[in-house]
Amino acid sequence: MRLMEEKIRQEGKVLSGGILKVGNFLNQQIDTRFLRRIGQEIAGLYRQEGVTKVLTIEASGIAIAAAAAMELDVPMVFAKKHKTSNVDGEIYSSTVHSFTHNTDYHIVVSRDYLLPEDRVLLVDDFLANGHALRGLIDLIRQAGAELAGVAAAIEKGFQGGGDALRAEGIRVESLAVIDRMDENGIVFRP
Ligand code: 5GP
Repeated sequence: MRLMEEKIRQEGKVLSGGILKVGNFLNQQIDTRFLRRIGQEIAGLYRQEGVTKVLTIEASGIAIAAAAAMELDVPMVFAKKHKTSNVDGEIYSSTVHSFTHNTDYHIVVSRDYLLPEDRVLLVDDFLANGHALRGLIDLIRQAGAELAGVAAAIEKGFQGGGDALRAEGIRVESLAVIDRMDENGIVFRP
């Protein structure tokens, strides 16, 4: 998506440690017109895939996932982050390593919202090492649901998470893939 690349070039800020800041349009302030375009783009990629639900993790995935789900006319579910693995029988839960905070956290979703007959599209703002998405894939597996594919707004290709998922046969679509970034600029995958 050319528009995403342009937006990152204009408004993204490269921080040390391989972090891209997009608080100006995606992560804190949200450019709602742009968000609608993202939702349309993701829905266009997966419209023929029989998606019944869009799944993401709170908090930064929610806006994009909701925008995509609205276009696909299906519910959006977000996994909640918990500090403890306080598991009861009513939830599916998995553990995720956070790249940005360098800690582990637990994600949980009520069994009521992921059903064996669901065909689930995973959506997130960033795809880096792929830990967050693998946690969500684990929840889908526990529910006995099917994975339709993954859509990320921004993939940091240099961290390899997206390509590892593709190598496993999972459909991964990213609206922009960054191959390199540093203080001299950002190089997108052609
Ligand atoms: P992964 O689990 O794929 O390593 O990282 C994905 C998660 O980490 C995303 O949900 C996102 O919130 C966060 N993340 C990873 N890299 C970045 C980044 O460069 N910038 C921001 N804002 N978040 C990131």
